[in-house]
Amino acid sequence: MVIKEVNLETVCGVTSKLPENTLPEVAFAGKSNVGKSSLINALMNRKSLARTSAQPGKTQTINFYNINDAMYLVDLPGYGYAKVAESEKAKWGKMIENYLHTSKQLRRVFLLIDIRHDPSANDKLMYDWIIHQGFDPVIVATKLDKLKRSQVPKCIKAVKEGLKVKPGTVIVPFSAVTKQGREEIWQIMDEAVGY
Ligand code: GDP
Repeated sequence: MVIKEVNLETVCGVTSKLPENTLPEVAFAGKSNVGKSSLINALMNRKSLARTSAQPGKTQTINFYNINDAMYLVDLPGYGYAKVAESEKAKWGKMIENYLHTSKQLRRVFLLIDIRHDPSANDKLMYDWIIHQGFDPVIVATKLDKLKRSQVPKCIKAVKEGLKVKPGTVIVPFSAVTKQGREEIWQIMDEAVGY
């Protein structure tokens, strides 16, 4: 999709009602600091549309970006930020779960995992929730540029094994620095929204 216009149209907090959109949606989930804002900015060709975390864990909202009045990119709150109370974490969990459960327009879910690290318990939980809601997430392995090329296959394998992904799961290595993987993610999004 050639991006003509992007608007942050709706921001939902813990207590807000989710919008009843009529356009197809794709959603991005991942723990805080995984590189989700950087990925969204890269997808939109913008430097600072989505916030990049000076204060990780501060974005406890679901943000709906309207792209060309053709689709929504949905930015789910980053989870797993250590300095947040358990009660707060539970609220975000509920918020994400509720969105996955209620959205009628959600076509595809992307789950971001830092390519350098084994998935955390929260990552696994998120993967399982997504599957439970009937979606096969695309895994985006972020911060690819931080690895030597020779390390990549081993790390991809560790991500797959850590999440216990279903056979056939698509894993896209991505770097916000080199933009490697951007086109592949857009292809999957275009296909998901029928573009
Ligand atoms: P978020 O909390 O998931 O939205 O993560 P951010 O996009 O704010 O990124 C967290 C940190 O990782 C920031 O310092 C980014 O500059 C850095 N970062 C994000 N993506 C990449 C990447 O692909 N490569 C490198 N080298 N750094 C990245």
